[in-house]
Amino acid sequence: MQFINKPLIIFLFSSILVLAHYVVSGQHANYEEKVVLVIHGGAGTISKDNMSDDLEIEYRKTLSDALNAGYEILKSGGSSLEAVRTSIRLLEDSPLFNAGKGAVLTNKGFAELDASIMQGADLRAGAVAGVRKIKNPIDAAIEVMQASPHVMLSGNGAENFAKSRNLVLVKPNYFVTKTRIEQLRKVQEKDKTSGSLHPSPLSYDKKYGTVGAVALDVNGDLTAGTSTGGMTNKKFGRIGDSPIIGAGTYANNSTCGISCTGHGEYFMRFVVAYDVAAKMEYEGKSLQAAASEVVWEKLEKAGGKGGLIGLDAKGNVTMPFNTEGMYRGYITESGSIYTFIFKDE
Ligand code: ASP
Repeated sequence: MQFINKPLIIFLFSSILVLAHYVVSGQHANYEEKVVLVIHGGAGTISKDNMSDDLEIEYRKTLSDALNAGYEILKSGGSSLEAVRTSIRLLEDSPLFNAGKGAVLTNKGFAELDASIMQGADLRAGAVAGVRKIKNPIDAAIEVMQASPHVMLSGNGAENFAKSRNLVLVKPNYFVTKTRIEQLRKVQEKDKTSGSLHPSPLSYDKKYGTVGAVALDVNGDLTAGTSTGGMTNKKFGRIGDSPIIGAGTYANNSTCGISCTGHGEYFMRFVVAYDVAAKMEYEGKSLQAAASEVVWEKLEKAGGKGGLIGLDAKGNVTMPFNTEGMYRGYITESGSIYTFIFKDE
C-alpha cells in the first residue's frame, strides 16, 4: 500500500466531494451530448414528503410534454424563439404552474401576469407586466419585441396592444383555480394573525412555480423566456424579476441564455440573469461556474432563494438552485429527455 500516498487520497476524496456538490446542487458537470432546450417550472419548498406520487408523475409528464413540443420545432429546423414560445405556452396552459392558467393570485383575488423574451442573436427583447386578460403572456412579450418599438408594456396598455395584434384575450377568471384560491386564503389568514403591516408572502408560500425556457437552434441562436404570476397575495401592482430583462431573463449568443425563478426582489437587485452572462463575458468563466457563483456566492449569501436555468451556444446546460427543489428538465440534440424535481436527483 506504500504507493498510495496521502496527497493522492486527499485529491481523490475532494474530487468526490466536488462531484457530489454538483449533483446535489442540480448541476450536471459533464454532458456527452449537446443540450438544445432546457426548461423550469419554478423553484421552492418542493420535497418528496409534500408531493403525492400521482402529482409527481403529472409534473414530470407536463415537463416532458413541454420539452418534446419545443424539440419538435428545433428538430425541423425551427428557431429557438419558436421553441421557447411553444414550451412556455404549454406550461402556461397547464394549471400546475404559476404562469397563465393556475397562476398565483393577488390580494384582490385575480391573476396579474408578467412575461419576457430575449434573443441572443441580436439582443432584441420584449416583455409585458401586470396583465390580467392575455391568455398566453409569452405571446404578448414576443409581440412587443417583434411588432412594437418598445421593450416592455404594462397593464391595460399591454392588453390593448395584445388586442390590436389579435392575441387571445380571456376573462380574468380563466386563470383562477380552486387550489390558488385556497392558497391565497391561507396566506391571508396567516398574514392577519401575524399582525405585521408588511407581511412577506414568502414566509408562508415558498413554492414559486414560474416557468421558463432556453433553447438553442440549428443556426446556433439562443433564446430565453420566462412567464409568471409572481407572488401569492402581492399588492399595489407589484412586479417581479420575470419581465425584467437582465434580472429574470437574458440571452446573448456569445455567452448564454438564462431564465430565473425565485424571490424576485433579490433577482432584480442582483441582476441575476445578466450577471451570469457578464461573468462569462468579462471573467471568461464557463456557464456552470458563472451560474454557480451567482447562486451560491451572491444570492445565497444575501438570503435570496430561487434558481435558474442556463444554456450556452455549445449546448452546455446548468440548473443551479438553493431551494429544496426546482421543476426542471432538458432535452438533448438526439431527443433524450431528463426531468428533475427534487434537490438530490
Ligand atoms: N420570480 C417570480 C417573481 O418574483 C416568482 C417565481 O419565480 O415564482 O415574481
